[in-house]
Amino acid sequence: MDAVTLEEVNRQIRNGFRFLRFQPAIEKLFLQDYAANRVRLAPIWAVVGTLIYDLVYFGDRTMMANVFSQLLLVRFGIFTPFALFSVVALKRWPSAFNYDLLAICVAVLGVSLPMSVAMHSGSPYLFVYQNGNVAAFLFFVIALSPRFPTILIGLVLMCAVQFTTTKLSGAFDDVVYTGIITFYVTLTIFLVLSAYFAEHKDRLNFLNQLRGTLLHTQLEQKSERDELTGLFNRHSLDRVRSSIWRANGEVASVAVIMLDIDRFKLFNDVHGHVEGDECIRAVCQCISREIGANGTSFRFGGEEILVLLPDTNCEVAFAIAERTRRSIEALAIRHRGLDGHVTASLGVTCGKPSQDTLEDLLKSADAALYEAKRVGRNTVTVGRASTRQLQCEAGMPG
Ligand code: GH3
Ligand code: MG
Ligand code: MG
Repeated sequence: MDAVTLEEVNRQIRNGFRFLRFQPAIEKLFLQDYAANRVRLAPIWAVVGTLIYDLVYFGDRTMMANVFSQLLLVRFGIFTPFALFSVVALKRWPSAFNYDLLAICVAVLGVSLPMSVAMHSGSPYLFVYQNGNVAAFLFFVIALSPRFPTILIGLVLMCAVQFTTTKLSGAFDDVVYTGIITFYVTLTIFLVLSAYFAEHKDRLNFLNQLRGTLLHTQLEQKSERDELTGLFNRHSLDRVRSSIWRANGEVASVAVIMLDIDRFKLFNDVHGHVEGDECIRAVCQCISREIGANGTSFRFGGEEILVLLPDTNCEVAFAIAERTRRSIEALAIRHRGLDGHVTASLGVTCGKPSQDTLEDLLKSADAALYEAKRVGRNTVTVGRASTRQLQCEAGMPG
């Protein structure tokens, strides 16, 4: 799903799809879905199909008495084991290609095995008997329902078998033989057309479902993200909090960084709000780069950013905060109000989800940030509750 975008799916719906084929990335998804559905239903159709097929035993006994034992052999000795083998093979090697290949084999065997025996029977009931193959044609197209090209090839092969065996049987004069051909050709044309429209509808349904899923994901992401910066918004803090605080003790420690751009009111006053927005965006991109996969960043307030770092001790959090502070300074965004560059102050704190609530840590990080502002800005300060921990980790006396 990652490889396909909503725009690509919309384009595919808008432009349609020729020859029942999507563009490669969507086609790949469709084939995965197709294979999963067909392989799931394969055991059911194998049982139903084989049962119906083997029930013709009674027809064999009454209509084909003189070749009955051979028919028994092909039904129970060849076809039934092959159908069961197909289910096992698909479970072992599930793919759209394998499904289609086995569907063709089952269909062609289903027609050719009894017909190749019955053609030698000399039975007066051969006309009625060969009519039974209509069931195999319908089963192949409607129940097994492989992809359109497979149906096309399968039906042509089934017709070829049907026409050859009925001809070679010598049981029918030209009029009856032409009647048989006309009947099966008409049936095949009808099945080919309906298979085309059925797959077209299936594919359209697939595209609409895919579109729905992607729209849902996009909406979910949008509702969690801040539009200006792309960072998570404050609203999504609850979800991240639950993942850290309800991880059943898996997250042993958590660090919090609270960042605030220095003298930003003045920046807005001097540069205007549009440039102010640009500045916030650039600072946030810089924060995202520095934090990377170590944690999650939220736009907590106007130009105030909160970073949660699970499984991070104070020493590492301090190092990350200091690196971020330096990177923001290195952006060298002109702050004409100060006749210098844009900088930020950061407050760091850390604790254990088993002992501290998020609110405790936010308070501590806020106090540290306030301290950073007080001592002159463009600096990182560690929250008081965590200073002890940092000193312990660094081997400093408490
Ligand atoms: P300090 O160094 O103490 O943080 O000084 P400050 O001027 O930055 O003070 P404070 O953090 O309280 O100011 C926040 C300012 O950020 C106020 C508001 O005008 C501005 N601001 C908040 N959100 C936005 C925004 O989305 N865009 C722009 N351009 N400005 C914003
Ligand atoms: Mg500020
Ligand atoms: Mg502020």
